[in-house]
Amino acid sequence: MGLSGGMDSATVLGYYYNKKYQIYPLFFNYGSKHNKYEFESAKKLAEYFETKPLKIVELDFIGKIFKSNLLENQGEIPEGHYNDSNMSLTVVPGRNSIFITIMAGYAESVGADTVAVGTHMGDHYIYLDCRPIFISAMNTAIQASTGEKVHIETPIQHLDKTGILKIGNSFTKPVPYELTRTCYKNQEFSCGKCGSCRERLEAFENIGRKDPIQYQK
Ligand SMILES: [Zn+2]
Repeated sequence: MGLSGGMDSATVLGYYYNKKYQIYPLFFNYGSKHNKYEFESAKKLAEYFETKPLKIVELDFIGKIFKSNLLENQGEIPEGHYNDSNMSLTVVPGRNSIFITIMAGYAESVGADTVAVGTHMGDHYIYLDCRPIFISAMNTAIQASTGEKVHIETPIQHLDKTGILKIGNSFTKPVPYELTRTCYKNQEFSCGKCGSCRERLEAFENIGRKDPIQYQK
């Protein structure tokens, strides 16, 4: 599975840990502004859920030749609530097709049969590579390319951010959300202002808990 260190992949990780799967996490270093902070979270989560060693996949070409405000040395991360125009700035073209293809190759290499993907209902339709139709097409391709040895699962597809927090807190060994990183910005403490932070804070409000991470004052 891909472990970005965010709430979604942390929840997917907790889900499979609690189902007693052996987990082989990959961290994709693709040149995003928040990659280095995400990595710290991913390391702690992998340790917490006793995975196989966390492997780093260097994809620096994405940051060099793809266009997105999410990437380092490109435009600013928009603040405020997500809407079509500001959100589309943070789309990284082709990201999930690249990640899933790599995960499938890794799964086949280590003898794993499942590629776990953390796409969910809260993913806005503008993120085309998070939609069920895309995942289903990728699943067909992965099964064809591995002779049915590997398939994709999306255990949080039916949930939104609030539902994700609820399920993550309900596991026998719950997800330590204090270890996760959500903010898109290139700064140590989360900003609390970007669309990503806003959605996280809203989800915590919805479940009646305080977000355990520290925000920039
Ligand atoms: Zn933020």
